[in-house]
Amino acid sequence: MLGKGIIQGMVETARNFAGSYVSGDRLVTVQYPEERLAQIEAARNFPFLVYDGEDWQQGLRCVACQICEKECPPKCIYIIKDVTKKPDHTGKLQFQPKVFDIDISVCMSCQICVEVCPFDAIKMDVEYELSTADRFGQLLLRKSDLARPNAYYHRIHPTEATAVDAHLATERAKAAAKSKPDSKPAA
Ligand code: SF4
Ligand code: SF4
Repeated sequence: MLGKGIIQGMVETARNFAGSYVSGDRLVTVQYPEERLAQIEAARNFPFLVYDGEDWQQGLRCVACQICEKECPPKCIYIIKDVTKKPDHTGKLQFQPKVFDIDISVCMSCQICVEVCPFDAIKMDVEYELSTADRFGQLLLRKSDLARPNAYYHRIHPTEATAVDAHLATERAKAAAKSKPDSKPAA
């Protein structure tokens, strides 16, 4: 019948309208910004840099390998590597980024930077209220803007962050075992 779909849609709308007076489940509109839906754990928006320990500069997991910069499709990551190694939060000497910028006005939230990072140093944030008219002041994020503690990562993506911690602990244990002098007596 011609117009059957329209009538069905109107009936559904009327059912929801009337039903909303008796059932809160039928109120599907969220009065943003006064109300906000709770975010799901898999939500993602723009990347941030994870650091361990108390000092964000020393604790950055990023070793400035620049893989993410090369792989980012719209080329919105800009890195300059430090010329000398510095101690990380465990005291191990590592290269770090002297400059690490992300232009989030260009970022398309594809998460490729996260997937290619061998050091679990860059992850996706869930912050979405970033609208501004000041592109260079607000949307070009510097290293200090991007750095977030591991505790923050756990807060927004607890399952993923716990798995990453376990993986990093295993890798550290393997590296420590490899670097131990061979205890076997010489033949
Ligand atoms: S975030 Fe990861 S991939 Fe990007 S430069 Fe740092 S360590 Fe390399
Ligand atoms: S999320 Fe995608 S577009 Fe954004 S910085 Fe990472 S690789 Fe680039």
